[in-house]
Amino acid sequence: MADVIEMKNFIHDIIDNDIETKKYGDKDILTRFPPEPNGYLHIGHAKSICLNFMTAQKYKGACNLRYDDTNPVKEDVEYINSIEEDVRWLGFEWKERLWASDYFDEMFDCAVTLIRKGKAYVCDCTPEEIRANRGTLTEPGRECSCRNRTVEENLELFEEMREGKYKDGEKVLRARIDMASPNINMRDPVIYRIAHATHHNTGDKWCIYPMYDFAHPIEDAIEGITHSICTLEFEDHRPLYDWVLREIGKWPTPPQQIEFARLNITNTVMSKRYLKALVDDGSVDGWDDPRMPTIAGIRRRGYTPEAVRDFCERIGVAKANSTVDVAQLEACVRDDLKLKVENRNVVENPIKVVITNYPEDLVEEMAIENNREVPEMGDRMVPFGRELWVDGDDFMEVPAKKYFRLFPGNEVRFKGAYFLTCNEVIKNEDGSVKELHCTYDPETRSGTEGANRKVKGTIHWVDAKTAVKIRIRNYDYLMLENQETCEMELNPDSLVESWGYAEPSLGDAKAGERFQFFRKGYYICDELSTDEEKVFNKIVGLKSSFKVKK
Ligand code: ATP
Ligand code: MG
Repeated sequence: MADVIEMKNFIHDIIDNDIETKKYGDKDILTRFPPEPNGYLHIGHAKSICLNFMTAQKYKGACNLRYDDTNPVKEDVEYINSIEEDVRWLGFEWKERLWASDYFDEMFDCAVTLIRKGKAYVCDCTPEEIRANRGTLTEPGRECSCRNRTVEENLELFEEMREGKYKDGEKVLRARIDMASPNINMRDPVIYRIAHATHHNTGDKWCIYPMYDFAHPIEDAIEGITHSICTLEFEDHRPLYDWVLREIGKWPTPPQQIEFARLNITNTVMSKRYLKALVDDGSVDGWDDPRMPTIAGIRRRGYTPEAVRDFCERIGVAKANSTVDVAQLEACVRDDLKLKVENRNVVENPIKVVITNYPEDLVEEMAIENNREVPEMGDRMVPFGRELWVDGDDFMEVPAKKYFRLFPGNEVRFKGAYFLTCNEVIKNEDGSVKELHCTYDPETRSGTEGANRKVKGTIHWVDAKTAVKIRIRNYDYLMLENQETCEMELNPDSLVESWGYAEPSLGDAKAGERFQFFRKGYYICDELSTDEEKVFNKIVGLKSSFKVKK
């Protein structure tokens, strides 16, 4: 289980108070995470998972994983497996794994209880009529004649609904509350509908299914949930939640619903339906495409569960909707990786450097620190020879202002090796740079006295003879906000593939291993890697690196 980080939010205040007043007697705090198994979980769900599980941990209670499968759709084992993998990856373990559909019998009995009390009735109105009679914010709703049916008639009709005597939509069961209520959700909401469909769990046993607002409080109550945490859209449904439990009256200490603001993040769409469409139309390479905001996607991207939990903690729990800058999530990822991963030298758009005064066959092993901030991570030996590769960004034939890297006549430190001076730019026939001829100062070897001399620029390098070629997948945001419409649209350049030369040790990288490519950013070895070719996903860049326009 993940460590509990001490945090305080308005939900804790409610629970503290409930404990003090012994609202739930000696019962332990019990929360639940209730996903509908109709897609992969996304970072918004991660917020809900962290909130529910961490709240339970804080109070030494527990959290259930409950599939909200009241809709008779086909079970998709892929989704169920992914949900469980994602919750565990985030570092949590549920107390019980449950299915809302296991309570269908009890829910039916609850509906009968309401009918017997005169608190529910079978209605023949069409969905259009129900909508038309519901009224508006300023006008009360209208009662239909079905509302006055006798208990006996309702019991009989409801039984007939269950037996399959009616077609989909022909009848519904409605709660009998108040058609003039200022809260439209209380104007006799539908609580059961007819759907002749096979359910993955209950098969063809039922052709009537409970509506969310009726089912959810019952599910919570049956399990003994104390605090049912949901998103803000359900705030206006809370009176109905309480009404259902009160009128059924079976539970002496019923659960309470608490709403918080759902997580929105810039450049991020969080809707399973939308994400599924991207997968289905091939806009992305599956649910775990590293650009996807799904938990599977960010895992493959290289984000860590620690970073995601930290993010969910840092943003806190709000009572009003807002949008969090995606940079905050990226900062959490950087903060987590900073002290955990080793550096490696990798260059992109490589330029060849030939050290004209360096012995032809000499190869020196240079000790380079793995992580400057964590000396315990030690050094690694990196070969250095007469021919090297440097990054395309580290050379300018005509230097910009404040550019201290390679340009003709300039001396720079090759990190962990020597000082080199660029003497000559050798061109191809088309005028492009073929190679740079440099000389090195043998007195400046890293770690010796001579290396203390000041030079302004430090760059990294890869020995040409032993370099391994790697594939690099550079990611930008999947979604961009259109400045005119303020709508999010797909970014056509969200993936830019490139390649680079890496120091030889990266040839042995294993899928899932993370590194800082020195001066470039954080990368993870992707599962597409083979023995012949390693593929790396860019996790996140380093903070604000100075980029020169060429
Ligand atoms: P989507 O709209 O993406 O399909 P959903 O709310 O329909 O999401 P569910 O599987 O029903 O998905 O959600 C499971 C739980 O996750 C619910 O309690 C829901 O409130 C919560 N949740 C979903 N999206 C967010 C979000 N963006 N921020 C916080 N909690 C969320
Ligand atoms: Mg849903």
